[in-house]
Amino acid sequence: MTVLRLEDIEHAYGTEPAVRGVTLELGAGEIVSLVGPSGCGKTTMLRLAAGLERLRGGAISLSGETVADTRTHAPPEARDVGLVFQDYALFPHLDVASNVGFGLGALSTAERDARVDDMLQLVGLSHLAGRFPHALSGGEQQRVALVRALAPRPKVLLLDEPFSGLDAAVRHRVREETRTLLREQGTATLLVTHDGDEALQLGDRVALMRDGELVQHGSGEDLYLHPVDAFAARFFGEVNELDAVVKEGVVSTPFGSLPAGDLTEGSTARVLFRPESLQLVDDGTTVARVEDSRILCGHRATVVTLENESTAPRRLEVRHDIDESVSAGDRVGLRLVEGGAWVFAAP
Ligand code: ADP
Ligand code: MG
Repeated sequence: MTVLRLEDIEHAYGTEPAVRGVTLELGAGEIVSLVGPSGCGKTTMLRLAAGLERLRGGAISLSGETVADTRTHAPPEARDVGLVFQDYALFPHLDVASNVGFGLGALSTAERDARVDDMLQLVGLSHLAGRFPHALSGGEQQRVALVRALAPRPKVLLLDEPFSGLDAAVRHRVREETRTLLREQGTATLLVTHDGDEALQLGDRVALMRDGELVQHGSGEDLYLHPVDAFAARFFGEVNELDAVVKEGVVSTPFGSLPAGDLTEGSTARVLFRPESLQLVDDGTTVARVEDSRILCGHRATVVTLENESTAPRRLEVRHDIDESVSAGDRVGLRLVEGGAWVFAAP
């Protein structure tokens, strides 16, 4: 069942287009990440869904009922959506319990108190019910904002960069806890973020935008493993890039030939592959010199230059196991994993 549908959405500020022809659907209980670089139109999509902005074209429906098109505009309070903004927007003069209970005016006092207790317990904040927002850590504020939005059991939850105010050290865990909570509550959620990692961690599906348009839409695995273009490939992690000419349907690379798909014979192709698609091997036909190697979180990043290059030495990054120790000056063999490269037309 489709809970939220944004169809062929057009929006502009003045004459400056902000969203062009974007269609997005949210199924029951589903988490969809809407991701893209700053300024690509993500917040605009969210504000349109919430009713904070009037659309210029297209239509928005909640559970099959049109709430916005070029003639209709249901106000935010008439749309059953919960909102969490980047800065959390907690009411500073209300304590935690009153913040969480704010949207529960339709309930009796007893029902409201019970619901607030439940929500605070869910996120382990019962002991902070009487605190004011200024006396909470960033992570605590985030959880209060989240359960405040969830308390009225909205049809759809809209989150705009809700983790960007958190320290990197806690962000991963808070995202994981948030995902678990949304799963337990079964709340359909549209998460807006500029962070590719975050989009992959939370989204059952991921929609990638650029310059107001949808570039690619699918599972996280689809976007990470099968990007539709170089922009999509670069968005979800580091990539190595090299150019090669299409000849007899293939492009030759230092790692062997790759199918050129439907690229024109004689044209230049851009070959992209992730650092983890390169492997260090003892007996590789491709030999490289290690320039630098360091440990990052969870892997080792080694920069190499290819030997026997007729052109200027190419620097490539390899990501491999931490216990595969190498150092500057070492000669290593390289292998590109099967299916680990993408070939697109060069810009
Ligand atoms: P994102 O959330 O992806 O960073 P936004 O949806 O906020 O992007 O913005 C999309 C585009 O619309 C940007 O070019 C931005 O400058 C512009 N924009 C956003 N809000 C307004 C506004 N209130 N007035 C004018 N331009 C705006
Ligand atoms: Mg934004």
